[in-house]
Amino acid sequence: MTMHIRHLIGGVPVESREVFTTVDPATQDVLAEVASGGETEVNAAVAAAKAAFPGWAATAQSLRARIMRKLGDLIGQHVPELAQWETRDTGQVIGQTKKALVPRAADNFYYFAQMCTRTDGHTYPVDGVMLNYTLFHPVGVCALISPWNVPFMTATWKVAPCLAFGNTAVLKMSELSPITASRLGELALEAGVPAGVLNVVHGYGKTAGEALVRHPDVRAISFTGSTATGNRIVQAAGLKKFSMELGGKSPFVVFEDADYERAMDAAVFMIFSNNGERCTAGSRILVQRSIYARFAEEFAQRASRISVGDPMDEHTIVGPMISPDHLAKVRRYIELGPQEGARILTGGLDAPALPAKLARGNFVRPTVFADVRNDMRIAQDEIFGPVACLIPFDDEADAIRIANDIRYGLSSYVWTENLGRAHRVAAAIEAGMCFVNSQNVRDLRQPFGGTKASGTGREGGTWSFEVFLEPKNVCVSMGSHPIPRWGL
Ligand code: NAD
Repeated sequence: MTMHIRHLIGGVPVESREVFTTVDPATQDVLAEVASGGETEVNAAVAAAKAAFPGWAATAQSLRARIMRKLGDLIGQHVPELAQWETRDTGQVIGQTKKALVPRAADNFYYFAQMCTRTDGHTYPVDGVMLNYTLFHPVGVCALISPWNVPFMTATWKVAPCLAFGNTAVLKMSELSPITASRLGELALEAGVPAGVLNVVHGYGKTAGEALVRHPDVRAISFTGSTATGNRIVQAAGLKKFSMELGGKSPFVVFEDADYERAMDAAVFMIFSNNGERCTAGSRILVQRSIYARFAEEFAQRASRISVGDPMDEHTIVGPMISPDHLAKVRRYIELGPQEGARILTGGLDAPALPAKLARGNFVRPTVFADVRNDMRIAQDEIFGPVACLIPFDDEADAIRIANDIRYGLSSYVWTENLGRAHRVAAAIEAGMCFVNSQNVRDLRQPFGGTKASGTGREGGTWSFEVFLEPKNVCVSMGSHPIPRWGL
């Protein structure tokens, strides 16, 4: 039976006159009918969040922390159910959702439960006569907007600090992957989050999303999604606090002195995990010319052995693309590569061999392009699928030049056993994050985010204070400082 999903506004499920459906990208089976919100539902959700704000902001930090931990516990208890829905709604493979992505969502609540008791400020004494100190206040109603790739983890990455620091929220998930966030709203109520503190509105970007970001009572926007949408939101929203986590085309740089086997493992993982639908994917693989031919051949062999298929199967590595439209986009780039002069080493447009039940799924073969020039569109555009571009470079300066010759600046990866080079290149690359001799390993204290067209602002650890807290300076006289007697 098809599930029916409603908004959560003021703690109660709310219907809309219109609905949309969300489908299983592996089969096109309809998974759920979802209430499709617009201005009316957004206005009601923002009003509920605004009404709930004073009470939640005044709730003792220790109690907020306890509720956040309880929500983490509830997510932990529901991992199999949540992982299954996440996989069916997005096509992200069950091995990842069950072992990594959903457990990480619980960790987000445990972590920010601690952080909400650490909103301590600085003191600035002045000559023994004045004392400045900073207070941090919650911002108010926050709009939290999530994309369709790893949606549950991304939603909790925003909801956890937002609520822990005393704000209230309206969460809008992508119309392509709304199911698990709807469970998050229910679990939050069960954990003791008061009605109205977390509201969930479903709908399209142009209707629900636009109404939300334009709303004058929304004080901060934490958005994860494409660069194009991020730009539109900044223009539409007016004066608000922003955290923008946008697109990427991250360089994965392998020098001839790298630990070859580990670099190979990480390169394969960073482009083909999460179906390649990963903002921090190492999608431009820069390899020093002296090892390029060997690296390219072995990389392509590995890619050709990747199992593509049912994302509910524990052995599958790459599942379906999120939607037929997105599949068509990925395929257009696979078609474009050879026209631009790149060489396909493995993959391409032929459909992967699949059982009949997956015949209508959005599948594509992991594809590797060699001899890519950095000015080709396949090297410059975010493809957001299992498509790797191998680009040769000559020396350190050439590697840095190619790495930075791109509009994006989200993540980067540097592989070398030369310590000085590792530090030099890490410092020179224009990106919000750089991993040296490592894949993307997340620590919740790190500042996460990008530069250039990959966004503004950072989230994680104390960096989340910037988005979800408003600092206030309090300046106190100790009684003896001079005050001008003007007018006397
Ligand atoms: P998208 O920009 O199309 O949509 C993201 C969200 O914004 C969805 O909920 C959508 O409904 C909403 N939206 C669309 N138009 C809107 C508008 N005018 N006003 C308000 N909201 C609107 O992105 P997507 O296709 O869902 O996700 C893929 C993109 O997300 C990729 O570019 C990827 O790199 C990026 N991403 C970035 C990070 C990061 O941390 N930097 C993480 C994950 C994904």
